[in-house]
Amino acid sequence: PDNTSELRPTHPLALAPVVAPAASVDGFAKQFLQNLNFDQGVTLSSSDVNDQYLALAYTVRDYLMARWFDDRAKQKTQQAKTVCYLSAEYLLGRQLDNNLLAARLTDIATEALAQCGIDIDAVRAVEIEPGLGNGGLGRLAACFIDSLATMSVPTIGYGIRYEYGIFRQAFADGQQVEQPDAWLRMGSPWDFAHPEAAQTISFAGHTETYDDEGVERTRWVPEWNVLAVPYNMMVPGYHNGRVNTLRLWRAVATNAFDLHTFNSGDYVESVRAQTFAENISKVLYPEDSTPQGKELRLQQQYFFVAASIADFIDNVLPDDFDLEGLPERVIFQLNDTHPVIGVPELMRVLVDEKKLEWDAAWAITQKCFAYTCHTLLPEALEVWSVDLLGRLLPRHLEIIYRINDAFLLQVREQFGDDELLIRNMSIIGEHPYRSVRMAYLATVAGSKVNGVAELHSQLLRDNVLKDFATMWPDKFTNVTNGVTPRRFLRLANPDLSALITEALGAGWTVDLERLRGLEALADDADFRERFAAVKAANKRRLSRVLEARGDTPLDDGHMLDVMIKRLHEYKRQTLKVLHIVSTYEGIVSGRLDVDDVQARTFLFGAKAAPGYGMAKRIIHLINAVGEVVSADERVQGKLKVLYPANYNVTLAESIIPAADLSEQISLAGKEASGTGNMKLALNGALTIGTDDGANVEIRKLVGDDNFFLFGMSEPEVEALWAEGYRPSDFYQQDDDLRRAIDLIASGAFSGGDRTVFEPLVSNLLYDDRFMALADFRSYLDAQDRVDAAYADQDAWVRAAILNVARSGYFSSDRAMRDYLDRIWHAAPVS
Ligand code: PLP
Repeated sequence: PDNTSELRPTHPLALAPVVAPAASVDGFAKQFLQNLNFDQGVTLSSSDVNDQYLALAYTVRDYLMARWFDDRAKQKTQQAKTVCYLSAEYLLGRQLDNNLLAARLTDIATEALAQCGIDIDAVRAVEIEPGLGNGGLGRLAACFIDSLATMSVPTIGYGIRYEYGIFRQAFADGQQVEQPDAWLRMGSPWDFAHPEAAQTISFAGHTETYDDEGVERTRWVPEWNVLAVPYNMMVPGYHNGRVNTLRLWRAVATNAFDLHTFNSGDYVESVRAQTFAENISKVLYPEDSTPQGKELRLQQQYFFVAASIADFIDNVLPDDFDLEGLPERVIFQLNDTHPVIGVPELMRVLVDEKKLEWDAAWAITQKCFAYTCHTLLPEALEVWSVDLLGRLLPRHLEIIYRINDAFLLQVREQFGDDELLIRNMSIIGEHPYRSVRMAYLATVAGSKVNGVAELHSQLLRDNVLKDFATMWPDKFTNVTNGVTPRRFLRLANPDLSALITEALGAGWTVDLERLRGLEALADDADFRERFAAVKAANKRRLSRVLEARGDTPLDDGHMLDVMIKRLHEYKRQTLKVLHIVSTYEGIVSGRLDVDDVQARTFLFGAKAAPGYGMAKRIIHLINAVGEVVSADERVQGKLKVLYPANYNVTLAESIIPAADLSEQISLAGKEASGTGNMKLALNGALTIGTDDGANVEIRKLVGDDNFFLFGMSEPEVEALWAEGYRPSDFYQQDDDLRRAIDLIASGAFSGGDRTVFEPLVSNLLYDDRFMALADFRSYLDAQDRVDAAYADQDAWVRAAILNVARSGYFSSDRAMRDYLDRIWHAAPVS
């Protein structure tokens, strides 16, 4: 790349190619100091650690810049298909280390900073992660864009630059308190604002027909609009020189404020429009597994999708591009239903603005979208009331109606006049109020629909989207999720990475199936010893991290049993608590000899959606149980419960490498995939889990001997429901269960107050939607097997190594290959 473009410079430097600074310690130090002086405006001696962090980030950017220019320029000229990943969430995690690693600068930067008298670890520690997502779905998007860059697939990630990401969680008296996540407070060195490239995004108003040279057309006359300002982030591939783009949109008022009103003295009123507009990208909705049916949420969805589609057509495609060829140049992948409003938006652009015929536009649109479904919970399927959608996006509602009319005709043609079927399949639902079913719209419009693990995809076909799968069997496919081995093994677990590289060479980082080579080493006593030493070192590292955060450090010699994921009833943190309480009750009642109890630390990490009362009660219970159990002298320190607040990607990167046991205990048929399960197995934790989500595939791959399976299968769950599930029967019939629940109900963990956890206990006894009581006995038996297995450390370590060796399938690189082959029909461009 160079600086010329359409300008006619004469200066020789302007004609020279843009080059990266010298990839040497001196070159890096020089650039770093320059950035400290001229970008941060401080000298080295007057700089604080945040100045140093920002200057270091600028320096890493400088090294990536030339490649980024290059890849962006190619996007316009190349004929290759671009993957546009549309996601309302990106849970990115810290950027510095990842970008240093991708650019091969880690050692150079460490040494250059050391020579400036700076400890790079201290600098690393000040980075605030951009928490622009809730959990698995957002983290998945981040893993995918990492893999796509590493595989040289032309990609643009599109999303929202929330000013406040997922809340910071704190505990007060054991209860969750939410605090705003002001992640931009100390500067955001990784993104580049481009106000000149803003898109105007409209809302509300009405539609009208008009005569366009003899053709009747419809146009939308909106009522108000906002600017979508793009912020570009670099997404560097690992060691391949490629830099893709993540483009996040920020909402800005079109008229910053009303000068007339301002001059008349009403300052507050004059900035009202600005506040209103900018609210759109103000905050991430902290919902996980249930949608927020708020108008602002729909505004967010339309805002980012409309801006992204316009950006792709106006700025990424060449000026004279024939839109009939759009499906050869782009696939818009819908990460769940949040971006589905993009379907009528592309239709509106093609029909109303570009004046294509409806049928031609629909043929294009159907090829340009594909939809990933992320749930099985009926309450998580997003719907928008027709009232709200029609008010906010009147033209889009008309388009949706027309899509639905044509679709229902097709249903009639294929299945006859089966009115019940028509009602069930209609994109418009009638009960309890008229609404647009976004998953149905996505299914009708998408070229493909995929679930995120084998079992999940099967249940989508068999239950959630059954009629659609009957109609279009070929539309449905599966792509099992994956995780990036760069962040979650190479960066998070440097010691294990070094051990693997020593054993297998470095290629595993981009070809994770090579980990299979470790299988043979599982029987090598020397290798096992070194593997165990790494795990022990990772526990000490985690312990230091916890201590530095003001949390309780780990005890030596404990098994580290982790349950880290969003707090949700279907994930069944309660079942884990019942296990802890049952063991505790056994010890204090004398039925268990404390000397026979395996020392365990139970580590939880979980945020609850702020409006999810039951989840918050469960948090309270975990903390209350933890306080009593950890402190009770009769337990002799054998059981510890830790719940560090504010579980996020940064903390995950410390916990996962240290874990011995991974709790994946959702009710079968409820967890779509899980990705935490993959990260933990990849780092040598053994799983105790149900046959749910990707656990099924993990178990098949690592083998039954290296996985602790328990609980009902999905068909067994269905059978028990059909028969009539009465949780109190299980309570009556199982002494351990009864004693554990009674202990909670007695107020033993709430200072004698029986009312505190009463709603939770009642819920378990008389509702228990997720059947914790039905799986309790099987879970406890599996935990006994865990204890027995852990007692034989040699065998345990062997099983842990086999978990690592057989987890290569769960690389997000493999997931991307599956998407490329089965859905996108696109290819890497070297
Ligand atoms: N939250 C964070 C911070 C994560 O890193 C992950 C990892 O995948 C998740 C949530 C998802 O966890 P799970 O797949 O166990 O639901």
